[in-house]
Amino acid sequence: MQRRADVPRLGSLGPSARAVVRTLLLAGPLSRAELARRLERSPASLTKITQPLLAAGLISEDTAPAAESPGRPGAPLALRAARHRFLGVKVTSDEVYAVRTDATGRVEASRHRPLADVEQSTVVRQIVELVKELAGQHEIEALGIGLAGQMSRFDDTVRANPFLGWDQVPLAGVLEEATGIPTVLSEDARALTAGVQWSGPGRGMSDLAVLTVGVGVGLGIVLDDRVLAGPTGRVGRIGHVRVSDSGPLCGHGHRGCASAFLTTAAITQAVGVPHGRSDVDLETAIALADEGDPVALRVFHDAGHALGVLVAQLVNILGLPAVILAGDGLGMLAHARTAMDAAVAQHLDPNATPPTVVAFSSGFDEWARGAAVVACQWMLVDPPAPAGPARGTRT
Ligand SMILES: [Zn+2]
Repeated sequence: MQRRADVPRLGSLGPSARAVVRTLLLAGPLSRAELARRLERSPASLTKITQPLLAAGLISEDTAPAAESPGRPGAPLALRAARHRFLGVKVTSDEVYAVRTDATGRVEASRHRPLADVEQSTVVRQIVELVKELAGQHEIEALGIGLAGQMSRFDDTVRANPFLGWDQVPLAGVLEEATGIPTVLSEDARALTAGVQWSGPGRGMSDLAVLTVGVGVGLGIVLDDRVLAGPTGRVGRIGHVRVSDSGPLCGHGHRGCASAFLTTAAITQAVGVPHGRSDVDLETAIALADEGDPVALRVFHDAGHALGVLVAQLVNILGLPAVILAGDGLGMLAHARTAMDAAVAQHLDPNATPPTVVAFSSGFDEWARGAAVVACQWMLVDPPAPAGPARGTRT
């Protein structure tokens, strides 16, 4: 992988230059005046920081609006995002998804492959194969891996992944050794959230939540432009919040918890059992509801109610203006939206402002894209020292 000598890696920049790049990525292009305001710098001090970045071709003056001409102080600055490449990987219980992106998270190429098994050596080998295929002759600045577990914001160890049965697995170091690419791990819903806010439907929002439904119930929270992880990586454990006094049991024995209504397994079982069928998947359940099947309609109604309670409580506690719904179980919304909206209205604090609730349909590539965004943010927020990374306790 050849490096063009003229464009420095994002992770090699000093803190002030990284702050400029980060701000331009999140909100750019920006005028010098606006950039100086956001970074709380004087115009002279900003010029001192941006001059070498312009000279190195890392940032450029954006195509100027009609009233301005290039080179004038008013010409907005933009990052030349296509000059920096990242890889993102999402590992589910049975598949690996990988994408190559630029610094904004724009996907250039993608691959996915079924996992042969969940042995560490097998999964590592399959990730490395996809990484090498997607890297090709491109120079990759960092690799992000998103998977379930309790990882800190920029972690190097897989902690408590229930789907692979992994705990305390130093995956980042193993992958770095095999690929030569700096590697960072992130909890997957949090990685998805990073991508949603950086360059997805949450772009431009400083505060939001991403609530996911599928094999589990996941949550990512952004406050003041920052994806929260907490000191132990446990922020976002919302799946077993109680949403009803009655209802089915979840796998942990909770009656009426969110997972008991919302996971794909809960829905397919609740629809399948009364029909005496064990072959009901989510698509079948949705098709039954489309046909007016009363069991399926009730199950989706209850799922919508559960989702609405979660949305309302998130907004009550955190004051969020927007909640974005995502995940491979989102197809339920066709029959769950009305009950969800009613539950949001019912459970919202009387003084709360009703949130914008957006459904964001995507495949697992979007989760991988989020992991690539985490890799880019890692380089811009907290890049590893050249001597070697030590990230396990960082958030
Ligand atoms: Zn539960």
